[in-house]
Amino acid sequence: MKTVINRTRETDATAALLSSGHCLLCGAEELEIVLDLGETGLANNLPAAGACGGEPVFPLRLARCRRCTHVQLADRVAPELLYGHYLYVSSASSTLDRHLRSLAGAIAARTGPGPDGLGRSLDIGCNDGTLAAHMSRLGFQAHGIDPAENLAPLARARGIAVEVDYFGREIARSLRNRLGAMRVLTATNSFPHIPELNGYLEGVAELLEPGGVFVIEAHYLLDLVEQCAFDTIYHEHCHFWRLEPMMALFARHGLEIFDCERLPVHHGQLRVWAQRSGAGARPVSGRVAAQCAAERAAGLDRSEVYGELARKAAAVRRDLRTALDGFRRQGRLVAGYGAPAKASTLAAWCGLGAGDLPWIADRNPLKQGRFTPGTHIPIVGPERMETERPDYLLLFAWNFAEEICAQLPAYRERGGRFLIPVPEVRIV
Ligand SMILES: [Zn+2]
Repeated sequence: MKTVINRTRETDATAALLSSGHCLLCGAEELEIVLDLGETGLANNLPAAGACGGEPVFPLRLARCRRCTHVQLADRVAPELLYGHYLYVSSASSTLDRHLRSLAGAIAARTGPGPDGLGRSLDIGCNDGTLAAHMSRLGFQAHGIDPAENLAPLARARGIAVEVDYFGREIARSLRNRLGAMRVLTATNSFPHIPELNGYLEGVAELLEPGGVFVIEAHYLLDLVEQCAFDTIYHEHCHFWRLEPMMALFARHGLEIFDCERLPVHHGQLRVWAQRSGAGARPVSGRVAAQCAAERAAGLDRSEVYGELARKAAAVRRDLRTALDGFRRQGRLVAGYGAPAKASTLAAWCGLGAGDLPWIADRNPLKQGRFTPGTHIPIVGPERMETERPDYLLLFAWNFAEEICAQLPAYRERGGRFLIPVPEVRIV
């Protein structure tokens, strides 16, 4: 494993790069770089005007373990830098809010009420409390834990008791002593962020009631490959999960995956249902073996499939640059719409700056007035759409393209078009 050369812009960022060159799952020092996306800023740490140019950038490289075939980032960034001030808010998307409501309903249907009602639930990485609030409305005693200090007041305003901390063995023991065991543990969109999986899963095993369920929703490596969603790779996601390595990991911690479902949310996710091994509470669904077979059929355990992903990512960069250069020559105004985390990866990969896109409109007020990290495209409120009337909007949140197009009927009626970058560049 060659040494990673740190080329961050701030000397104090040197300590923030935690690359160790070993597999986070099996420990083998046999990582093979399968996709090199260059250097990017931290996708959810959007600098304000005064801080532009001072923010650190880090190498962004996808690696596959030659021994256990798990796929992960080769370079990790210290969590304090990633999560201290977090701008992604679950409730900002109505699609996601509806999804989390239906997840709460699905959990209640599976666990059912006991003599003490639906019991206690803990949402790990609870963000602004959207899921916990839906759980609470159904009758769970809902709790949350999240390290982002700026989000805790939002969750508390919904009546959710929130711990500001990282989940792990020690905090799990403390919660069990203070609150009792949990019937339901949930981790939606946070499980791929966990570098230290052993302490985390020991905490899950510690805190879960016998007969309880641990439900994960995570972006799914099969979807990433099928959709060419390379822009969903950023530093927060240190793992790119598929079922087989996850099953082996869980088994080592006394946990058993008994069901799974593919979900259409975000860019496609996998919902995983787990319980204590040998609890006998629920039989293992045939869907688990079928999904493992689908992963092997897609070649996710082999390196060739990632070579193809790298070729497609290069085609997106070439075609997007060609389109933007062409529009500029024609005197057309192209702006961005939506500044999700993946905008940082796409902008950095394609070398986009304020010269290509003068601004990106985003409805989240926490992002307005800030800039894309490393590439410094201004993020503004959606009212800019009316004053400047762009000809084309580059949809960074391409997975919400349908919802966004429906939200902007006036833009469409006056002839505005959408530029969708992934899986391949197209204009609609
Ligand atoms: Zn490994």
